[in-house]
Amino acid sequence: MTIAADAVSSVIRSVPTGLFIGGEWIDASAGVDVENPATGDLLATVADAGPEQGRQALDAAVAAQKEWAATDPRDRGELLRRAFELLRQRADDFALLMTLEMGKPLAEARGEVTYGAEFFRWFSEEAVRISGKYSIAPSGGTRLLTMKQPVGPVFAITPWNFPLAMGTRKIGPALAAGCTVVIKPAAQTPLTTLALAELLSDAGVPPGVVNVVTTSRSGALAEPIIRDPRLRKLTFTGSTEVGRKLIEQSAEQVLRVSMELGGNAPFLVFQDADLDRAVAGAMVAKMRNIGEACTAANRFIVHESVAKEFADRLAEKMGAMKIGAGIDDGVQVGPLIDRAAVEKVTELVADATDSGARVLTGGKPVGDKGYFYAPTVLTDVPASAQMFAEEIFGPVAPVTTFASDDEAIELANRTEFGLVAYAFTQNITRAINVAEALETGMVGLNQGIVSNPAAPFGGVKASGIGREGGAEGIEEYLETKYVGLAL
Ligand code: NAP
Repeated sequence: MTIAADAVSSVIRSVPTGLFIGGEWIDASAGVDVENPATGDLLATVADAGPEQGRQALDAAVAAQKEWAATDPRDRGELLRRAFELLRQRADDFALLMTLEMGKPLAEARGEVTYGAEFFRWFSEEAVRISGKYSIAPSGGTRLLTMKQPVGPVFAITPWNFPLAMGTRKIGPALAAGCTVVIKPAAQTPLTTLALAELLSDAGVPPGVVNVVTTSRSGALAEPIIRDPRLRKLTFTGSTEVGRKLIEQSAEQVLRVSMELGGNAPFLVFQDADLDRAVAGAMVAKMRNIGEACTAANRFIVHESVAKEFADRLAEKMGAMKIGAGIDDGVQVGPLIDRAAVEKVTELVADATDSGARVLTGGKPVGDKGYFYAPTVLTDVPASAQMFAEEIFGPVAPVTTFASDDEAIELANRTEFGLVAYAFTQNITRAINVAEALETGMVGLNQGIVSNPAAPFGGVKASGIGREGGAEGIEEYLETKYVGLAL
């Protein structure tokens, strides 16, 4: 059902637009405009924080840290559980907000609310399972005690592509571990995080435990916070280029860092794959979030004996997808985030076709309003194509072929990135061999999606450091302290 205009304006009006610092909403005079990528229209204007307000947010997080760390784990867990329940109650509003500010179709936005809320539920359960160890030194005598303590105030920086889940994946474990947070959402999608701040306050999160700053000057705001000796942890999700800069800045205070960075996922289809499953998996791995996901399949590496059939079937499905504003009925492909994204995808496709790639479907921008690009399948893409070296971040599936398993693995690993890989085969030995040989933090075997709050999400190589979710997720926010006890 298409969403009515009054529902749109009502949800936008309901979002606070100030900075959330120390439990108070603070107005800032200058503003950051938030645009609807489906129309180019202005949705709202939010506060534009500068370095001084960034420092105030850190002051608030530092002031709240000691008391928050001393809260009973059960209380922290119950609070996250309340936040989970509230997110479920407000799911329609959060989904609509994300569709409006980011562009993803409403059905996918609802899926992100479910996924994002699960991090609160998962970490509400982990809060009470933080434990230590007791052992006897190998030489006897001394007892070795280890305990876990919250790392301290956290600065979280999130991207625009998953406006809710990238926030809850950081706030959930931080709060469960006993850390306070300053969070800075992407300038293009701040509304979801602002609504989340209000929700956390309604759930009973004490003042200063979560603080939100929005800004058009992310570098100027972030650097002094990162260099402030009171900050103990930086958690970042975004591009590898920015991640590298932030790691450098973090070196000064030797900060703990978690980095969820870019990807360039290979999608391998072996000759013994179930092609129905491979095509269905490809649709999810490529088209989820309009291709704007770090986990998006970026290179389809298909055995030469099945490549034509795979590409034809994928092109038929992708070519039939309904494109439009995410709030409209039945839309499967929303707009890209901005004009620059459409230009980048256009350039990558031109680079591939200029060097011999063939377009099976799509291959061009769509419409004259908003930032739409047609779902595209390319075959005969040469190994030298630029789109094999960098994230496409759009609905384009380039297909290339291989002749042997060794060649497939070599092609898959031929990238500086190592977030996720997908492999389709019905042979268990091949599946395990391939999973072991892939240089990635995650592998989807016969499935086109790996994200799961109960699993450790993260990459190797230039895709990052650390894991989010699973039992590992909370460890990122805990320090291990060892006590040697002489008896
Ligand atoms: P981005 O340009 O790196 O921005 C990410 C965040 O960093 C935004 O909040 C941005 O603020 C901020 N930022 C930019 N420059 C900064 C600076 N100098 N100092 C401090 N903060 C700065 O990435 P994006 O385009 O938003 O997101 C897409 C990227 O994120 C892709 O590479 C994707 O693969 C990656 N990603 C990775 C994961 C994962 O889990 N591995 C998940 C999702 C996305 P502004 O918006 O104000 O610029």
